[in-house]
Amino acid sequence: MARDPKYDILFEPIQIGPKTLRNRFYQVPHCIGAGSDLPGFQAAHRSIKAEGGWGAMNTEYCSIHPESDDTHRLSARLWDEGDVRNLSAMTEHIHKHGALAGVELWYGGAHAPCMESRATPRGPSQYASEFETLTYCKEMDLQDIKEVQQFYVDAARRARDAGFDIVYVYGAHSYLPLQFLSPYYNKRTDGYGGSLANRARFWLETLEQVRNAVGKDCAIATRFACDTLYGPGGIEVENDGIKFVEMADPLVDLWDVDVGDIAEWGEDAGPSRFYLQGHQVPWTKMIKQVSKKPVLGVGRFTDPEKMAEIVTKGYADIIGAARPSIADPFLPNKIKEGRIDDIRVCIGCNVCISRWEIGGPPIICTQNATAGEEYRRGWHPEKFPKKGSNDSVLVVGAGPSGSECARVLMERDYTVHLYDSAEKIGGHLNGVITLPGLGEWGYHRDYRETQIAKLVKKNKTCQVALGQKPITVDEILAYGAEKVVIATGSSWNTDGTNCLTHDPIPGADASLPDQLTPEQVMSGKKAIGKRVVILNADTYFMAPSLAEKLAAAGHEVTIVSGVHMANYMHFTLEYPNMMRRLHELHVEEIGDSFCSKIEKGRLEVYSIWGDGSKRTYRGPGVLPRDANKSHRWVEFDSLILVTGRHSNDELHRGLKARESEWEKNGIKGVYLIGDAEAPRLIADATFTGQRVAREIESANAQFALPYKREVAVWGVSHMPGATNTAIEYQV
Ligand code: ADP
Ligand code: SF4
Repeated sequence: MARDPKYDILFEPIQIGPKTLRNRFYQVPHCIGAGSDLPGFQAAHRSIKAEGGWGAMNTEYCSIHPESDDTHRLSARLWDEGDVRNLSAMTEHIHKHGALAGVELWYGGAHAPCMESRATPRGPSQYASEFETLTYCKEMDLQDIKEVQQFYVDAARRARDAGFDIVYVYGAHSYLPLQFLSPYYNKRTDGYGGSLANRARFWLETLEQVRNAVGKDCAIATRFACDTLYGPGGIEVENDGIKFVEMADPLVDLWDVDVGDIAEWGEDAGPSRFYLQGHQVPWTKMIKQVSKKPVLGVGRFTDPEKMAEIVTKGYADIIGAARPSIADPFLPNKIKEGRIDDIRVCIGCNVCISRWEIGGPPIICTQNATAGEEYRRGWHPEKFPKKGSNDSVLVVGAGPSGSECARVLMERDYTVHLYDSAEKIGGHLNGVITLPGLGEWGYHRDYRETQIAKLVKKNKTCQVALGQKPITVDEILAYGAEKVVIATGSSWNTDGTNCLTHDPIPGADASLPDQLTPEQVMSGKKAIGKRVVILNADTYFMAPSLAEKLAAAGHEVTIVSGVHMANYMHFTLEYPNMMRRLHELHVEEIGDSFCSKIEKGRLEVYSIWGDGSKRTYRGPGVLPRDANKSHRWVEFDSLILVTGRHSNDELHRGLKARESEWEKNGIKGVYLIGDAEAPRLIADATFTGQRVAREIESANAQFALPYKREVAVWGVSHMPGATNTAIEYQV
């Protein structure tokens, strides 16, 4: 199908300094956990997007010197020739597909804790990082300023040598250039502090020096948080924001603008729970009004209508995207080919970001199970190896894992029957998307629903059987499929079993009228009283989401939590606004507390730190600490048990128990995937579906095939020409 002419504007080339961007689709710098250390992963993840039509791909933040070391998080690095060599794999593979490669030169100041290098970061003034609160920087003197600027220049030259077309001086997310610009960090009284001209000096000088060094060969970009969202205490777009752009415009070939800081960078990478696509436009469009250079903006642009509107209305020249390019590396080509309904729309869950925040490779994506697997497993997001046998496959359960497994098997041309007792594809996600702010997570289901419908149309031997009666072991044995995939999901515990005690809680019973599981709340079929207590031992979104839902509906909600409630939402950047939301709704939390027993209308709560601080051996049968005396009763009208989940694995257990009957029934293999194997993130459940579908011919597809590892091998040095074969001490 041809592309709709209304999207033609997105495919116009744009000149940025000495380079031509072939269209307006631009993958802004984003973390994947590859850096310079995993060159195959870096090259494959970025170049697959070049193949998918993106005009430019960037590295993640790229450290210019050991003083900017973000370990435990993983950045790229351009410290030496070894890094040049490794990153040149990325530029080479991107260039093969006719796209541009960019690198984001980064110096973090006190936000980079230097845990690996053990160097001391330098900054405009001495401050304790609000992001890495134990890290302080040394205040730079004039000599320091010259040295750090030289680090940028040296790294820029290395970037050019590595084949990069676009070189950034990165000043968004509160990194060094912005630290000089913003009075929030810069308390200097010399020529680099005070007036805007002085605060801008470091950034302008650095841009000039980098431009003089590589500006003929590379486009010079800068990433600028045009509003730090602190009001006059930081950078405001209509004050220093616009003025700085006017000052720096002659030195820049491309403006990459966003908002926010590092401590709350969810204001930039806005989760769909709080922000719609294009949420930064009210700020960033002002930059386009004052700059004479191309401007790009971000904001989880997934919809080509919205993208075209951004350009035609003059809000930005280029569509910047991180998450939409992760969820669908082929997004531009799909628009070009008029395949809008094939776009795998980013759901805005920020699970991709969570892995960087936690530290370590690889990136994962809820929508795109191949993200991070391009090199090590050789998974292409749009191409699938043809089936390796004529076996037919029955997939039981059409949740995230089952629907992904069925989709990929169908892509591989297998005969697949996807069977579910529910009326709709999506499994537990159909309940989750009714929670406040989580509607866009439904794109996960929609993508699979659309693709499976198309694939079933193409291959008449495939079938989707929804709204069926729950299938039994006998029925599976008699079904006639050679392979069976069990994807029956998980359920919340009805008896209070939890990660703290690993046992049920006396009195917990969700079959009683005043106790509920999350599923019962989401189904809306059970009455809920005025005073609600949520008993929580889960660290992701369920307890705060239910609290928000019920408090917004007028209930008085208290959360009793034995774990750091919503801890994982720190990593998905949802935490700050989630807490603000619960505060607005007057949700109370009794933290560090759990429950010993439940009676009608009340639960006994204790402080998890309430027993003795000293342990002593007191013989068998006696606890080594003094008894916990912190118990007290808390009353409720309804109690919600968010205590833990368990796999719905009865079918699988039943099939395993009758393994001796498989052969006579023609069954060659039974596999357990997703939450039915173990409850987990939707991204991980989806991954297991994709993996089993890709490896179903292997000797035992239940267990993953080995993948390529990019590890240091003894005797091989990172630096070309050197050897690492001896342990040598300084003497
Ligand atoms: P996951 O996240 O692992 O994919 P979900 O809980 O989202 O798991 O989905 C599991 C799906 O399996 C649900 O749609 C449920 O209706 C279906 N299911 C569970 N047991 C059976 C069964 N015996 N027969 C048919 N469908 C089942
Ligand atoms: Fe989008 Fe979620 Fe994938 Fe990140 S993990 S790209 S937010 S779908």
